[in-house]
Amino acid sequence: MTPDDFRTFGHTLIDWIADYRAGIRSRRVWSDAKPNALLEQLPSSAPTHPDSPESLMHDLERLILPHISNWQHPMFYGYFPANSSLEAVLGDLVSSGLGQLGLNWAASPALTELEERMLEWMQVASSIPKSMKGVIQDTASTATMVALMSARERSTDYALARGGLQSEAQAQMIYFSSQCHSSVEKGGLLAGFGKDNLRIVPVDKNFDLIPSELKQMILEDIALGKKPCAVVATVGGTTTTACDPLPEIAALAKEFGLWLHVDAAMAGSAMILPEKQDLFAGLEGADSLCLNPHKWLGATFDCSLYYVNDPEHLIRVMSTNPSYLQTSTDGQVKQYRDWGVPLGRRMRALKLWFLLRLEGIEKLQTRLRRDLENATWLETQIKNTADWTVLNPVRLQTLCVRHEPPELEGEALDKHTLAWVNQINQSGAAYLTPAMLEGRWMVRVSIGALETTFDDVAHLWRLMQEAANP
Ligand code: PLP
Repeated sequence: MTPDDFRTFGHTLIDWIADYRAGIRSRRVWSDAKPNALLEQLPSSAPTHPDSPESLMHDLERLILPHISNWQHPMFYGYFPANSSLEAVLGDLVSSGLGQLGLNWAASPALTELEERMLEWMQVASSIPKSMKGVIQDTASTATMVALMSARERSTDYALARGGLQSEAQAQMIYFSSQCHSSVEKGGLLAGFGKDNLRIVPVDKNFDLIPSELKQMILEDIALGKKPCAVVATVGGTTTTACDPLPEIAALAKEFGLWLHVDAAMAGSAMILPEKQDLFAGLEGADSLCLNPHKWLGATFDCSLYYVNDPEHLIRVMSTNPSYLQTSTDGQVKQYRDWGVPLGRRMRALKLWFLLRLEGIEKLQTRLRRDLENATWLETQIKNTADWTVLNPVRLQTLCVRHEPPELEGEALDKHTLAWVNQINQSGAAYLTPAMLEGRWMVRVSIGALETTFDDVAHLWRLMQEAANP
């Protein structure tokens, strides 16, 4: 494709994406595709000769659109907002168009320096402690794994330079609550801790980690000759938006020498709201923090920000310095390849730059506040309606909801819950995520898609009542 061909086809494609977004309300929210339906329509091998852009466009409409779920739909209330703002989409397009690969600073000075500055912009906007330094990772899962690998090395005085974790006399222990995201357990396993060394700390009635239980576990493990290594605290847990008490956890981490990683993947977007800063009090006692602007804030997947107190430690754990990557500027500039697992990096900071410049912090704050107000409104409706219950404290934009007619309990109640939520989801009019909470099914309503208005939330509430009271 020549640049001129690109210009022509690119304009058509931009129009196509704009039309998709403008007309998204007319589509169903969640895909009703049958398993393998697309596979059966795709040729089993690549074309030998060039296809035309027109034929490709035709197949985008015919094959791809009917088989996607529309995450950007205003009636999307599933999982968490995975907002892909059009500003960030354009930034991402520039990143691909420039085709940069940041193997080291010299390979793309702007890639490194824009990333550094965007991390600082977000740090200031989000009141992240000044002592921290940031890097963009792909996902929160990677950030947590990197945090746990860092914790492992600090705790073992760099066992990686000797026989690794398996040569350690003491088992290294990590702690997190039952409300943590599954990526925490996965990160712990991938970082080599082993299932026996992961401890699940009980939570209180708000689903927040109980510090006294954490202390008890740490003391038990010490008494057994084990080494407490790290604790992962969550602000904005996936299921219930649980917010673990950071000041108490940070005090324990300090007392017993644990690495404290704070997973604020979803809730981290709310750090730009001064009135939500209380959820993050105590952050100055953390060793690392992760937040995902690719969720609620709108930075287009993937854009996960990872902040650490001591980047030198990251570098000691993850630096590689083969001769072909050495340059005359080493020592004067950041080499982000040493701050994470991959060597190559995309120019992900561009989408954040586009988003922050073209929206501005105030507009982002206004959108997030709109979502919080809509969540509070829905909470009030549900609490004031007979047989409906909100099961979590609504600290942000996620509600855990159940319709509980008095005659239903146990498995019959589960069946009812799944029936009404599946009816909504299958209708295509909205999408909500059913999830288990304390052994029973409930429904998560996660408000915050870019285009979700108050009227949309009011409409959802009507749909919920109709589906639960047929
Ligand atoms: N942590 C929390 C609290 C989350 O809500 C999620 C996503 O749902 C994750 C981690 C995983 O995020 P990612 O897809 O960026 O790995």
